[in-house]
Amino acid sequence: MTLVMNLARQLYKLQQLDSELQRQRQYIDEIDRQLSGNEALTKAEANLSLTKQQLTDMKKNQKNAEWKLDDMNERSRDINSKLYTGVVHNPKELLSLKHEAESLKQRINKQEEGLLEIMGQVEEAERQEGSYNQEFSKLTQGWQQKQSSLTQSRAESEKEVARLDESREEALQQIEPSSLKLYQQVRTIREQAVVIVYQGQCQGCHMVLPTGQRQKAKAGEIVQCSNCSRILYVE
Ligand SMILES: [Zn+2]
Repeated sequence: MTLVMNLARQLYKLQQLDSELQRQRQYIDEIDRQLSGNEALTKAEANLSLTKQQLTDMKKNQKNAEWKLDDMNERSRDINSKLYTGVVHNPKELLSLKHEAESLKQRINKQEEGLLEIMGQVEEAERQEGSYNQEFSKLTQGWQQKQSSLTQSRAESEKEVARLDESREEALQQIEPSSLKLYQQVRTIREQAVVIVYQGQCQGCHMVLPTGQRQKAKAGEIVQCSNCSRILYVE
């Protein structure tokens, strides 16, 4: 009778090991999922990269606008020197130069306005880049800390799994094959294959057990609940 009672307890202990192993493996899976990527960091990196690219393009535009303005100013100086140093005497040619000088002055004003606008955009983009840079650094630092803590937790969990596996192997060697087979069968349909009998009730389905079943379980025989098929264990 003692042997039979031990069997129910052995199955109950095995179930505890199996449940804990399952819990640890799920925990490792969850850690792996978290380690596989950081959405916020990826987004911040993309934002930063896009802003850098836009800034490069804007600065190129600014340089082009500056060169164009330099050319215009140089041309303007040329015309003015021709107009006011007296090298041109032909009235028609002088008039044409005056017209060009007027038109150039207007174009220079417009070019300067355009350049100022580009410079404002560059300034704004630089501010944006600075803020994205800060966000990216902060997230990177946080992610490194999180990765390191997750990796440590994972290693601890792996150790625990190894320890539990070992205990499980030891437990299995002591369990009678027919009992083990029954446990495995019930466990395919019920997560809790072995349940404690408390106040005459099956703790799996809460059915009040018939007196006969209760007595058998109490006596230490391996008994299944007639309602839910779980193996009954009386502590
Ligand atoms: Zn039951």
